[in-house]
Amino acid sequence: MQSKTKKPAFPGEVILSAEQAQPFLDQIPEKNPACTFCGASLKGQPIRGYTHDGGWPVEGYEKLLWLYIKCPKCKYDYAIWKLGVPRSFNPKEVKN
Ligand SMILES: [Zn+2]
Repeated sequence: MQSKTKKPAFPGEVILSAEQAQPFLDQIPEKNPACTFCGASLKGQPIRGYTHDGGWPVEGYEKLLWLYIKCPKCKYDYAIWKLGVPRSFNPKEVKN
């Protein structure tokens, strides 16, 4: 299921599938996170990412990805650790 609004914003940016994103979303304690700048809800926004050595392992990607959720209103990028996902979280270890 692809939404037309879920397009990468720059070359190299990827958008996680719902299945890839779910283990990370499960780590976010706040189930209805809101943007601290403009107050827009971040719930339901896709997780975006790009290759980065300090990022997280993602199912289907060989390299680590820096992951973030973009505010739909003010476009601020929230790294998922700011939303409570541990930097050491590895969904591949949880799964296996
Ligand atoms: Zn915002």
